[in-house]
Amino acid sequence: MWLEILVVVGILVLGFLVTNWFTGRMYYKCSGCKTLNAKRREKCRMCGHSLVDNAE
Ligand SMILES: [Zn+2]
Repeated sequence: MWLEILVVVGILVLGFLVTNWFTGRMYYKCSGCKTLNAKRREKCRMCGHSLVDNAE
């Protein structure tokens, strides 16, 4: 019983981590408005905030 719950929770957590990792690899989250933008973009599609992390 408890083992089954642990397995289900483990799978959910693992799925969450994988999704998170995948999203982090594929998208930038805008620091201005939190919109997810594809990595090839240089500017946020919502607010135009620069997504390139270059310290000027
Ligand atoms: Zn933005």
